[in-house]
Amino acid sequence: RLAKRNQLSAMSDPMTGLLNRRGLQSVHRGLLGEEDAVILFDLDHFKQINDRYGHPVGDEVIRAFANVVRQHGRSADHKARLGGEEFALVMDGVAAQQARAIAERIASAFSALRMHSEQGEPFFCTVSGGIAFGAKDGSNIEDVMARADTALYAAKREGRNRVEAERPANVPDLRLVG
Ligand code: GH3
Ligand code: MG
Ligand code: MG
Repeated sequence: RLAKRNQLSAMSDPMTGLLNRRGLQSVHRGLLGEEDAVILFDLDHFKQINDRYGHPVGDEVIRAFANVVRQHGRSADHKARLGGEEFALVMDGVAAQQARAIAERIASAFSALRMHSEQGEPFFCTVSGGIAFGAKDGSNIEDVMARADTALYAAKREGRNRVEAERPANVPDLRLVG
């Protein structure tokens, strides 16, 4: 039983109770298909929150985001804190629109959450997200995460507080059709 407990704690993030990166990888050893999505989230300008309000308040913000992910993700989705202020949601069997809707619901619920400094001063935080899917013939989770990270980078570049999805390679660019 002790070995079992050690194994579980090696897979989870103590700050939030979500999976950690290793835990996420160990539940996703197989390939992800076209209907399996990875959403990566990274809190926006988080360093400023630490600088302005202190590290313990920053930790509270991280826990608040984890709770939003728990509330708005589907119960079967795998939810992880990858480190720092970066999170992943791995969804098996989800349509592209549904994955986007859930990501946007998470981002908008988080941005509406009023948090407080130790002096009681209210503040808000936002998050950016990137979504990618497995390929038709299957992709390993590392590959899908790397593509979700590219989409996340685009969301940051385009101004943050938004979700971007990769354009699937198998969908023609409508501008080039007809
Ligand atoms: P961006 O919008 O581009 O993501 O900007 P950012 O400030 O969020 O990004 P950056 O990577 O510069 O800063 C992340 C900060 O997160 C820096 C680091 O000190 C802080 N951080 C990492 N882990 C923790 C943690 O466990 N607790 C707290 N409070 N801060 C953390
Ligand atoms: Mg980051
Ligand atoms: Mg950040």
